[in-house]
Amino acid sequence: MPFLSAALDRVKPSPTIAMTTRAMEMRAAGRDVIGLSAGEPDFDTPDHIREAAIRAIREGRTRYTAVDGIPELKQAICAKFARENSLDYAPSQISVGTGGKQVIYNALMATLNPGDEVIIPAPYWVSYPDMVLLAGGTPVPVTAGPEQGFRLMPDQLEAAITPRTKWLILCSPSNPSGAGYDSAQLRALADVLLRHPHVRVLSDDIYEHLVFDGFRFATIAQVEPRLKDRTLTVNGVSKAYAMTGWRIGYAAGPEELIRAMARIQSQSTSNPCSISQWAAVAALTGPQDFLEPNRTLFQKRRDLVVDLLNQAPGIACPRPQGAFYVYPSIADCIGAVSRGGRRIDSDTAFAEALLEETGVAVVPGEAFGLSPAFRVSYATGEDQLREACLRIRSFCEGLS
Ligand code: PLP
Repeated sequence: MPFLSAALDRVKPSPTIAMTTRAMEMRAAGRDVIGLSAGEPDFDTPDHIREAAIRAIREGRTRYTAVDGIPELKQAICAKFARENSLDYAPSQISVGTGGKQVIYNALMATLNPGDEVIIPAPYWVSYPDMVLLAGGTPVPVTAGPEQGFRLMPDQLEAAITPRTKWLILCSPSNPSGAGYDSAQLRALADVLLRHPHVRVLSDDIYEHLVFDGFRFATIAQVEPRLKDRTLTVNGVSKAYAMTGWRIGYAAGPEELIRAMARIQSQSTSNPCSISQWAAVAALTGPQDFLEPNRTLFQKRRDLVVDLLNQAPGIACPRPQGAFYVYPSIADCIGAVSRGGRRIDSDTAFAEALLEETGVAVVPGEAFGLSPAFRVSYATGEDQLREACLRIRSFCEGLS
């Protein structure tokens, strides 16, 4: 009898974490490495949020809490949805977990049976297909490349839906492409979904606050209220409030699903960290004025990276609407040989050669289901970004 489970065979370790680890190893060995692979803001959690956590510790808020969140946080989340998304939810329709990641995992574990299909536009966040597989479902990736703005088209959605489709996962702005769906684009997808009442929508809005050039964020339950009862709207404090390590994510949806997710959580992690929950209350109810300067900073970095990458021969880098990633195509580099003699026959080979020969760590498109491309996270300082882009350009100039 094998020791390890068959379920484990269905998933692979996170490739983004693998690349970040390799970069850290090289740095530890004394190499000059610039990491553009991590998906987290490079600034600290704002002071008032940290103070709220310290206060929570001093006040002894250090015990188990309700499994899926303290009432104060659920209330703050309801107020957030009303204020920012015009969505009206009761606390009984809210679930809080250890990051958006766990909330999504709970939802899939609570709903998928063998053979159930989940439509995932590609490129996708690396965890979606693996979570679906772990939960026993079948991921159905649908290619949404740069020629269509990395957005799923209504006719593609229509064609992908079968009687076994349980979920469509939407992520806007997207990790890894940065592409955002505006309300008209969501409206067009909603029209398809209205014709298929058995399909639920998981809307991952974790990058909501990172949008540029006046792009107006919209979410599908707001755009089409008739879909609200079959939509799970996921969000969290990690990206907007620079709180990746605190591990608080949340979702709003129909009570039956929220209760089922709590049941999964009650038998796995129990409540998310009590102290982090109080910090999240401060994040959602406190001043929001730092969001705007952060957005401006990220937009400046996006422009810097897009402009510099497009100067590299063989790279075509679209300018996305949000998040802190760009997803350049390297179609014109495939088949070349690097200065160091490495054959670039895939985007993984490109990323490996780039890391070994220039010390720049990016994540190959293969991880996100759309090749040949790579993902750059520009959540790092401008000098580092400039240097990294120059090294990428020099690497591309050396391809023959
Ligand atoms: N969704 C997307 C698209 C992400 O990129 C991430 C984090 O990288 C998450 C969800 C989960 O974030 P967290 O678990 O920190 O809330």
